[in-house]
Amino acid sequence: MKDRFGREIDYLRISVTDKCNLRCRYCMPEDGVQLLSHKEVLTIDEYLKIVAIFQKKGIRKIRLTGGEPLVKKGILDLIKGIRDLGIEEIAMTTNGVLLGEKARDLKKAGLDRVNISLDTLDPEKFKELTRGGDLQDVLGGIRACQKEGLEPVKINTVLVKGFNDKEVSRLISWAGEEKIILRFIELMPIGEAIQYKDQQMFFDQWNKGDFEPLPGKPLGGPARYYRHKSGATVGFINPVSCQFCEDCNRLRLDCKGNLILCLHSTEKINLKKPLRTGEDVEKIIDRAILEKPESHHLNEGQYNPSQMNTIGG
Ligand code: SAM
Ligand code: SF4
Repeated sequence: MKDRFGREIDYLRISVTDKCNLRCRYCMPEDGVQLLSHKEVLTIDEYLKIVAIFQKKGIRKIRLTGGEPLVKKGILDLIKGIRDLGIEEIAMTTNGVLLGEKARDLKKAGLDRVNISLDTLDPEKFKELTRGGDLQDVLGGIRACQKEGLEPVKINTVLVKGFNDKEVSRLISWAGEEKIILRFIELMPIGEAIQYKDQQMFFDQWNKGDFEPLPGKPLGGPARYYRHKSGATVGFINPVSCQFCEDCNRLRLDCKGNLILCLHSTEKINLKKPLRTGEDVEKIIDRAILEKPESHHLNEGQYNPSQMNTIGG
């Protein structure tokens, strides 16, 4: 499926819940989210019906995200269902807290791999950033993924000046030792994070002499990869300073059945109602795709106030 700028859209990110077992300061309000009624959220069966339509339209890769996807009831059934549809790649972005107990079942259900979000290796800072999380749970989750073959494990680290920017070397050495791929992500001014926009850290501010670029796109996705002088593979995802909109191949679906064409746009196309009333959802998707924006406008100060935990990153 191509949009009007000729971009091939083959990747769907599904936010399966807006609930989370952590409360990262740049992502979620302290008191969490308003509870949604059963009727408001898509059932597993409805997700699968929508995924089947997207598959017909050319979606080859699905990423499950949230909120925290591992707190979603029925997540294993959803993964199995997507696998049975024959989607080529199923990945998940998770905070990793529940991976220790769930990695094996996730693998069995058909999950291919995980990205785990981890911004600091300091237990106190971790607790402060996540408003109460235990770093050991995440480290245990990473080990469980390695053991079960949910690999390559990629770690996503959002850098926030004055919080974890001094930890960069430590994170890189740790990733090298653990043979984990580490990716630094620029903090995007969305929702809760708008208040931290003066603490963004951009790629330009790095000492590039320590990093040798790896040719091409060795691990797919929007990251640019480098070999750090320590030997570690380090990726940079720079949505703000170095837009990758011209290669954008993705759509997003939230747990209320809204199709989101761009992370930085407030526009949503509801698919749940037409699905429930028997309308032609494929036609609605065909029309929607033509509205996918060419690029974001963060650099002109246009910020999306929506909470990141509802969109899924
Ligand atoms: N709970 C899961 C997790 O933390 O991995 C999945 C959802 S979370 C919204 C997905 C990713 O978005 C995480 O890696 C998180 O760090 C990142 N994220 C959240 N807010 C962000 C922001 N304002 N800028 C950049 N990344 C952000
Ligand atoms: Fe939860 Fe992930 Fe948001 Fe942190 S970043 S509050 S773990 S959804």
